[in-house]
Amino acid sequence: MAQRKPIVAGNWKMNGSLELVSEICSEAKKYNDLNVDVIIFPPALLLSEVVKNGVATGTQTISEFDSGAYTGEIHAQLAHELGAKFTLVGHSERRSIFKESDLQVADKFAKAQQFGLTPILCVGETEAEREAGETEQVVAKQINAVINKLGIAALNNSVIAYEPVWAIGTGKTASPEQAQAVHKFIRDMLKGYDEQVANALRILYGGSVNEKNSELLFAQADIDGGLIGGASLKKDAFISICNSA
Ligand code: PGA
Repeated sequence: MAQRKPIVAGNWKMNGSLELVSEICSEAKKYNDLNVDVIIFPPALLLSEVVKNGVATGTQTISEFDSGAYTGEIHAQLAHELGAKFTLVGHSERRSIFKESDLQVADKFAKAQQFGLTPILCVGETEAEREAGETEQVVAKQINAVINKLGIAALNNSVIAYEPVWAIGTGKTASPEQAQAVHKFIRDMLKGYDEQVANALRILYGGSVNEKNSELLFAQADIDGGLIGGASLKKDAFISICNSA
């Protein structure tokens, strides 16, 4: 079994401030030499501040385009130049509010890697899809869009975040057993392509993770840390989640 270093990533969404960057980074940077990768995904405008404050960082999305007439887009190459190491792609809010398709997400994944960013591919089913018994099918389709475009080897330098849509920002966390079942499904599915890639890949859980439920979630065999929304904006909660990884 591959040893996988856990990740605790904070997705600030469109929240935060200069003040919050210094407050959270002053604690988060203490993990730099420890056995957990702590990453902060602030709004893009705060990226350089997180870099200056010594914590690994990335963008919450990036453009699938090269430089040009795309007003308002975030260029992967520039993000990398500013010190970003990662980017989220396909977060459920991007998929639902901004109508990003599986194919577009795959293009963003490719663009991230082209410019040296490690993509964290977010996947997950809605409540209706879970109730219809379609969870595995939905997650497989979202992941296969990337594999079909780029091949299984592209997952070598990436991370997957399983985030059931019904658990995001709702306070309804998947139980450790529910989350583990989907994580295992993802890893088993990838083993069908390449055992080594599947064993080395870090798969994070996201969706109402907090300082009370993180320890049990992270203890599951196929859960390699978390993508944290609301709780990543509160220093004490976030640090105690980092400690539980
Ligand atoms: P949440 O968000 O922790 O607030 O549920 C998670 C996410 O959207 O990544």
